[in-house]
Amino acid sequence: MQTFHELEQTQSVIATILRNSLQTNRINHAYIFTGDYEPLLLEAAQLFAKSLFCERRDQIEPCQTCRSCRRMDSGNLVDYYQIEPDGATIKKEQIQELMHDLSLRGLEGDRQIYVVTQSHKMTPQAANSLLKFFEEPGAGKVAILITNQPQLLLPTIRSRGQLLSFRPADRLLIGQVLSEKTGRDNELTQLAARVYPKIEDAEQALVEDWFVNARVSVLQLMEELANRPADLPLFVQEKWMSQFKNRQDARIGLELVTCFFEDVLHLKLNPSWETITYANSRPLLEQMGGKSQTTITRWLQAVLAAVKRIEANVNPQLTVERLMFDLQKG
Ligand SMILES: [Zn+2]
Repeated sequence: MQTFHELEQTQSVIATILRNSLQTNRINHAYIFTGDYEPLLLEAAQLFAKSLFCERRDQIEPCQTCRSCRRMDSGNLVDYYQIEPDGATIKKEQIQELMHDLSLRGLEGDRQIYVVTQSHKMTPQAANSLLKFFEEPGAGKVAILITNQPQLLLPTIRSRGQLLSFRPADRLLIGQVLSEKTGRDNELTQLAARVYPKIEDAEQALVEDWFVNARVSVLQLMEELANRPADLPLFVQEKWMSQFKNRQDARIGLELVTCFFEDVLHLKLNPSWETITYANSRPLLEQMGGKSQTTITRWLQAVLAAVKRIEANVNPQLTVERLMFDLQKG
């Protein structure tokens, strides 16, 4: 994210608040950025920092070309600090070292910005060290604490920072970010963003081939259903069960099927529907959209019921066999 204009597209309130403080030059000494997707929070923090450091800032937006902007982009700006958990926690020593560096470099009035990612992982001792610093921050120093679990921050920390709550990130956007990060195609990243509740899990899935193969199996299953419904049980036995072995995998497989049926239904109801997930399989989606709306709705309900059974600990194989029986009935 390079501009506040971009940030504004999804986080208009946050963008307005940050913009205002830049325009009026009223910068707090501590901010707490909270929201469900930390990478976006971090990008917003870096953008804010970049604007604050920019030597030729036009009111709000960083110029992108001055020495500071270029150093910020390459991660070489010495007055920008960023710390993250060392293992499971952020330790007191990490905060003390940060404070030491800040005091060593910081001449009075010089701008220094430090970002603490996953700040809810600070140990109580680390949080207390930070709190001491908050009491006498010195001019020009700005803290940005990032967290997706603000309730785990010490109340004293929370009360001293300006809390900025980001809107829940939209899945389309997350899909795009994941696509840039992992190099996977947009369809696959949209699917991962849909079926994995946690972004970290989606990202992990995208680097493994299992998820790529899972999409292939789902599309094969849909082909069978469209063209050879009588062969469904055989397909499940020979292919499906070896791809989706355990309960977790079975759930992912069924969620992927759910997304497919949703696409079929969306396209049927509105042929110019743009935001389909299985964008690469439009012909198959349209072919299946040739079925009646009742049939498609039944398919969708059958697979949703199967997901529920998996979650209720019914055996995955039995669940899928029953699902195939329901799908065949149409
Ligand atoms: Zn600049």
